[in-house]
Amino acid sequence: MKIINISNLTNKNPTKDITEDDKKNKLILSTGKKKRIVKISKNIIFGGNQIPIIAGPNGVENKKLMVDVAKQLKKLKIKIIRGHAYKPLTFPYRSKTYKETQSEGMDIMDQIKKEFNLKVVTEVTEIRYLDRISKTADILQIGSRNMQNLELLREVSLTKKPIILKRHFGSSLRDLLGAAEHILVEGNFNLIFCERGVSIPHTHRDTSRFALDVQAIPALKELSQFPVISDPSHASFWAPWVPSLTLASIAAGCDGLIVEMHRNPKKSLVDPLQPLNFNQFSNLVKISKKISKVLGRKIV
Ligand code: PEP
Ligand code: MN
Repeated sequence: MKIINISNLTNKNPTKDITEDDKKNKLILSTGKKKRIVKISKNIIFGGNQIPIIAGPNGVENKKLMVDVAKQLKKLKIKIIRGHAYKPLTFPYRSKTYKETQSEGMDIMDQIKKEFNLKVVTEVTEIRYLDRISKTADILQIGSRNMQNLELLREVSLTKKPIILKRHFGSSLRDLLGAAEHILVEGNFNLIFCERGVSIPHTHRDTSRFALDVQAIPALKELSQFPVISDPSHASFWAPWVPSLTLASIAAGCDGLIVEMHRNPKKSLVDPLQPLNFNQFSNLVKISKKISKVLGRKIV
């Protein structure tokens, strides 16, 4: 591990925004002008002119759902599927129908990956699940609630796998880059930032808990070296707004998107107001392709 001389650091002037001193002394690896790409495979790259879309349901509910989702993605030439087998919930109480599929869910993702030649994104909630998840996942997601779980960041970094680090809904970019620094200092530079909405007083609908901070996209791209993706689904919690927020993110320069979709959103075991149905998702991919092309980017 690289040893950094911290003898000249002070915390006398704590600030919520990033100062020149922060860039030099605290955010040494995450800031800087050099642009980095994160290559998932020969034809999936974050941080270049491609905009990869990651899509799928919130949870790996069962095999049938994941097969149906995978078929839709293949039809649209989308290459990365999402779905969590381990899932943090805001409240500890679970409905009778909800159950985390855990290692069984990871086995389903493994089959999907092989049958459909898709890349897999899934969330790591705890270090104890990391071994099983790493066997299947191509990209490890750190959820917003774990953004500053520093032990977890370290262990996930050591896998050397690409990581999506979601910004906590109450954190500054300074804190986000500080968390990133914990990953980078372990030598893993396969890092992708994700903006997923922030808490603000008014979200314009009582079901919407967060609002997408579109401004964070160019801000992060200006500050950091790493690709920035957008999650319009968790930001709005409301499927009808997801297309606008997706297009706004593309216009703001995002390097990728993560979108929730489900065969039957109403039956989604978690957050049923949020996922797009297959038809809505297909329309969104079509318009996203057009808009991206105008901007010299390419949806994959
Ligand atoms: C998710 O991606 O399903 C998720 C829980 O996201 P977040 O951590 O941003 O709420
Ligand atoms: Mn979700």
